[in-house]
Amino acid sequence: MLRLTFLGTAAAQPTLRRNLTGLAVRRERELYLVDCGEGTQRQLIHYGAGFDVSAIFFTHFHADHYLGAIGFLRTLSMQERHEPLDVYGPRPARSLLKTMLFTGAERFHFEIRIHEVAPGERVRRDGCDWLAFATDHRTPSLGWALREDVRPGRFHPERAEALGVPKGPLYGTLQRGETITLPGGRTVRPEEVLEAPRRGRSVAVTGDTRPSQATVDAARGADLLVHDCTFGDAESDRARETMHSTAREAGAVAREAGAAHLVLTHLSSRYDREWQPLVEQARETFSGRVDVAQDGMVVEVPLPE
Ligand SMILES: [Zn+2]
Ligand SMILES: [Zn+2]
Repeated sequence: MLRLTFLGTAAAQPTLRRNLTGLAVRRERELYLVDCGEGTQRQLIHYGAGFDVSAIFFTHFHADHYLGAIGFLRTLSMQERHEPLDVYGPRPARSLLKTMLFTGAERFHFEIRIHEVAPGERVRRDGCDWLAFATDHRTPSLGWALREDVRPGRFHPERAEALGVPKGPLYGTLQRGETITLPGGRTVRPEEVLEAPRRGRSVAVTGDTRPSQATVDAARGADLLVHDCTFGDAESDRARETMHSTAREAGAVAREAGAAHLVLTHLSSRYDREWQPLVEQARETFSGRVDVAQDGMVVEVPLPE
């Protein structure tokens, strides 16, 4: 399973329809958050995304992206969570999060591990890497690209049987890519019973940014690109001034990267209800699937064939 739940899709300030930025990413056994704006914990409840977060990835430390972490982590502590939680972000993650999270009377019942990450670094999680890539904003900032491990090729038990491999643990050894030796001395190589390995899925999330080559590289061939889309065509000057992107610019990044699906998010309040033109503007530069994120929107990323 690889499922994204958009918890907040507004830029700068919340609206009636949109919370501040937060994105839940559930992949197999782990639940991650990318950014945690004010109100995120209530959105997790509202949309049933779960509270079993194992890591939070911050894109940058503008207030609309991180203030929700204070309350959310306090709630987890009150719920007697004991599992450690990892928090990743660009500088000044260490000093800022230390002050923010550990100021106050109550102690946490679980360990919070703060990791300051630079562009180009990879974070290893269960079955996938999260690559931090450079973005172009008004403060130190990162985008995050989730890349699943390569999956082993399809296993053909009938081929194994024909080669005389007995059913049982040796099947698993072959599926893990190891050569086995049968009791009679004959060896069976994994490629005799397995198809070619299959690529894993990849998802890139920019956070706030101008369009950039680093995003194109990080989102190359991605199944899904979640891109800053604070503005539309009419405000392209403002997008440049405030270091954000327009829908058209996000579309051009998605096209250059060869991404399959583009989701536009972090909308200025003037597009709160009138977001349809943003889809049209992005479609002029990108021929793949385009959606404008709405609070509560769920995107499942299917396994590639
Ligand atoms: Zn923002
Ligand atoms: Zn920002």
